[in-house]
This record gives sequence, C-alpha cells and structure tokens, in this order.
Amino acid sequence: RAGFACFVGRPNVGKSTLMNALVGQKVAITSNKPQTTRRAIRGIVHRPDAQLVIVDTPGLHRPRTLLGERLDSLVLSTLTEVDVIGFCVPANEKVGKGDRFIADKLTAVKKTPVVAVVTKCDLASREQIAEQLLAVSELGEFADVVPVSGVSGDQLDILGDVLIKHL
Ligand code: GDP
Ligand code: MG
Repeated sequence: RAGFACFVGRPNVGKSTLMNALVGQKVAITSNKPQTTRRAIRGIVHRPDAQLVIVDTPGLHRPRTLLGERLDSLVLSTLTEVDVIGFCVPANEKVGKGDRFIADKLTAVKKTPVVAVVTKCDLASREQIAEQLLAVSELGEFADVVPVSGVSGDQLDILGDVLIKHL
C-alpha cells in the first residue's frame, strides 16, 4: 500500500516537527517563527507493507496578507490531493477560533478522511491530554483521534499505523 498524507493546523502547532519525527529524517524546516514553511515538502514513512508520503504545509489561518492568502490556497489545494489528512492541535493550548477555522475548512473536504492529532503531549499532563482529546473530537467528524509528541517520540508508531490504515 502507498499513499499521501498531509498535516494541517495553525502555525507552530508542531506539524513540521511531527513530520520529521515520523520520517526519521530532517526534511522540513522547523521554526518558532510563523510562515517558515512556504512549500509542501515531502518525506516518506517506510513500513514493510506500506509507504506513506507526507506533504508538509504552511500553517493555515485566516489570511490577513496577500502572502497569507497564497499560502492558504496552497494548503487547500494540497488537502484535495492527499489520501488522509492529519489535523494538528497542540495538547498544551486551549482549542480556539484558529482551530475552529481550520476544522470548518476540513469539513468542506468531505471525501478525505481526517485524523485529529493532539500534538506536543510531552508538554501536557494526562488530564490535559484527555480533556484535549475530547475538545478536539467536538470540532468535527474525525476518522481517529491520536495523541502524540514529535519531540519525545511518544505514539509516533501508532500515528503512522493509523494514517496508513486510511490509504
Ligand atoms: P509548525 O509551524 O506547525 O510546523 O510547527 P513546528 O514543528 O515548526 O514547531 C513549532 C515550535 O514548537 C518549535 O519551536 C518546536 O520545537 C516546538 N515543538 C513542536 N513539536 C513539539 C513537541 O512535540 N513537543 C515540544 N515540547 N515542542 C514541540
Ligand atoms: Mg511547519
């Protein structure tokens, strides 16, 4: 089996870090500066029975500038080209308008399964993670909800398996 996945989410939620950790190779640029990623950069997750090509995206947010608008249309066109979408929300920040804005965009991409990914779990307590899984589930209809940490590597294998399941 082979297919494509991409991660979407607000800037700085850990998309690039997650992709790097999953593919075990530093291919995407990570930074705490918004809009560092301006191009969809691919990495490959290899499994004995499957290959998953990951497309990185710039953070999606309500566009305020021409560059922002161009970046958002790049993200939206990427969404229609992949087999599965990973919607990233960090465990250590309350779900907000920015996340809802993206969740609403995702409901418009009806054909593609969306896996909600609660990122940065190394920065949150068990209780916080449990609460966030619930809060994120309420943002839309998700095929799965998976908590991970790109930094500690926690649950990365499970996320890989879940994404591959939807190819
Ligand atoms: P992106 O904008 O969504 O691609 O986010 P990045 O992957 O560039 O990460 C933004 C910032 O959050 C960087 O400073 C990362 O080091 C940090 N970060 C990302 N993932 C994690 C994580 O799982 N745990 C912790 N502690 N920090 C993270
Ligand atoms: Mg990035």
